[in-house]
Amino acid sequence: MDATLSPHNAELTLGTIAVPSEFETITTLRAQLARAENRLAQSQHLAQIGSWELDLQTQELWWSTEVYELFALNPDEFKPSFENFLKAIHHRDRDMVREAYFRSVAEREPFHLEHRVIMPDGTVRAVMKRCVTIYNAEGQPLRSVGTVEDVTSQRDAQHRLRLAASVFENTHEGVIIVDAAMNVVDINHAFMEISGYSREESVGQQAGFWRSDRHDISFYRNLWREVEQSGRWHGEIWNRHKSGVAFPTWLTISRVDDHDGNTTHYVGVFTDITTVQRSHERLQYAAHHDALTGLPNRMLLEERLGQATKRAQRRSRRFAVVFIDLDHFKAVNDNFGHPVGDALLQEVADRLCHAVRAGDTVARIGGDEFVVLFDDIPGADQAAIATQKLLKSLEPPVQLEPGEVNVSCSIGVSLFPEDGRDAATLMRNADTAMYRTKAHGRNGFSFYTAELTASALERSTLEKGLIHALAQHDFQLHYQPQISLRTGRICGVEALIRWDHPELGTIAPERFIPIAEASGLIIPIGAWVMQTACAQAQQWLEEGVTFGAMAVNISGQQINRGDLPALVRKSLADTGLPPERLELEMTETFIMTQSDAAVRQLEELRDLGVQLAIDDFGTGYSSLSHLKQLPVHKLKIDQSFVRAIPDCDDHRTISRAMLALADILDLRVIAEGVETQAQVDFLLQAGCDEAQGFFYAHPVDATETRHFMQSWPRMRSEARPHDTPVGAFSGNRV
Ligand code: C2E
Ligand code: MG
Ligand code: MG
Repeated sequence: MDATLSPHNAELTLGTIAVPSEFETITTLRAQLARAENRLAQSQHLAQIGSWELDLQTQELWWSTEVYELFALNPDEFKPSFENFLKAIHHRDRDMVREAYFRSVAEREPFHLEHRVIMPDGTVRAVMKRCVTIYNAEGQPLRSVGTVEDVTSQRDAQHRLRLAASVFENTHEGVIIVDAAMNVVDINHAFMEISGYSREESVGQQAGFWRSDRHDISFYRNLWREVEQSGRWHGEIWNRHKSGVAFPTWLTISRVDDHDGNTTHYVGVFTDITTVQRSHERLQYAAHHDALTGLPNRMLLEERLGQATKRAQRRSRRFAVVFIDLDHFKAVNDNFGHPVGDALLQEVADRLCHAVRAGDTVARIGGDEFVVLFDDIPGADQAAIATQKLLKSLEPPVQLEPGEVNVSCSIGVSLFPEDGRDAATLMRNADTAMYRTKAHGRNGFSFYTAELTASALERSTLEKGLIHALAQHDFQLHYQPQISLRTGRICGVEALIRWDHPELGTIAPERFIPIAEASGLIIPIGAWVMQTACAQAQQWLEEGVTFGAMAVNISGQQINRGDLPALVRKSLADTGLPPERLELEMTETFIMTQSDAAVRQLEELRDLGVQLAIDDFGTGYSSLSHLKQLPVHKLKIDQSFVRAIPDCDDHRTISRAMLALADILDLRVIAEGVETQAQVDFLLQAGCDEAQGFFYAHPVDATETRHFMQSWPRMRSEARPHDTPVGAFSGNRV
């Protein structure tokens, strides 16, 4: 190695190596120097820092290998000089660098400065330059030495960070950053604006701190599963504003992983879509509703019909499409003008809406055409009753500007699935039926199927007839005795209603009771039955006729819609019949589906001292625990079981099971519909308490029943014990 000190290690020589004493050998000095030189070169190479030196006397510039590399210049081709160096500096930074350097030399201050350089390929890079100038004893600057370092990537990174920070703070979208443990690490300004929570209130909280209760647990589970699987989730999510109000947001969640693939953060970016949704809802509403009446329009009706079809198919249910066309609406428009016509349509819409149940749809599909969708209707009968309500709602005259107007309409009804399995067919057929009504003189309704129209008409005739019958006392009670199988005595008598229609003849209760129930007429009819049966029982008691208790059938409607305990109290008080002489029969199907309120009525009745029996037992679905809690005294085994005795094994087994059940629950049992000796034998042997049926007597009027009851002890004694005791009497029946 050359003994002379090269310019670039002069500083080192001054700064790091002690001035050699005259005792030290030149060899030692050289070796030290070589090592220092080596170390410097290595560390410069590692740190990618270049060094340079400018001799201010000769203007010679020396560069280390790293500087050449940094500027991508070939040391064999490029001659470093201060001027050449200045040329490489970005023209915008050149003056700044020159000035800074000269100031530093003049002021004897080291300087550092960052500036841009243009590379031979035209790209721009950022460098950090550091410089110090060395002076002689007279203060003359001798040389400047310094370092140069490429800081482009740091600059870019810083720039990107500044940019990201600016986006984070200034974006209109809310941003929330949570760590892997779901703790909120940071939120931006927009988050605070949208959510109402400050940074202090949010940071450190669990990510779900502003969660709304709009979504169930599975929603969040699926969301996070998606984030874990694909690194991302986006969708609509409802969160809760600090005020407590839930609002919709459109949220994107991204997972942030480190180099090793471990999740460090999750970033949520969202927008408040309340306004978007509101205007969407407004648009949706406008697209689906009639502007005049606010009712669903044809589009929404078709949608609802589609849904109803699917629902009904799935659950094997029915629904009805009711097409309504106002009669002579054109005349109203022509005579009084459109504003009056509009007012009439609004009134009609209002009345129709009040005449349907909450789940039904009333739509206006054109000028004076309305369609009602009766969802989940059990059958044609109920559809007819509901349609009649619509007709009735339009009966009262409408008050309009020019005066009172009478409205009527023609209605056509189609039923799913009988009259069509899709919306279009059902609408078409209801429309056809509506034209049939028009052809038959308007102001009424027709089913698409002619037979249904006939039966609906019959229903409406019967309903009118029932009102008439109540007023005209066309009802009658017949009585059927009940026999104790153990003693052979009459232990009760059941009152059964009869209706003699002036034109249609005798109408069975099974035909008119459902109509009376649907129309509400069962309340006055039931009251008449109760009063009449109690009066008859009391009369027999006073006449000394032995019959046990009077059984009266009660409809569920009397409990649900009326006040049965009040009726019973009044009937007992009016007639003087002791409560224990009255027994109320309620069907199993009704009694097992009752609310607490209904059960309380039954308890009130039991407390009055009245007996309660479950009629048609075995046809419903009794639960043992429920049965145990009900205040009942007696089970009436349904005729269908008795009828099959003694031939059918199953029915015999079921009857035995019912008797065993009654035994456990300490209830009396009566078999109804007993027609044969064999049935009596079986029931006796199985331990049944009582029996009722044609085998003993048919239901007959009061006079004949009295006659039967009085002659019963004689007939019984004439017969062998439990052997065709009234076989002879059956022959006498009416
Ligand atoms: P239910 O209460 O189960 O009455 C028994 C029915 O079976 C009666 O029919 C009776 O005439 C009939 N019956 C009696 N013994 C025999 C028999 O040996 N063989 C056959 N095949 N039938 C027999 P009815 O009078 O036609 O009454 C039918 C249903 O109408 C009654 O069934 C009851 O649910 C209802 N009902 C009758 N009267 C009233 C009433 O006043 N109010 C209420 N709410 N419902 C009533
Ligand atoms: Mg009964
Ligand atoms: Mg029965």
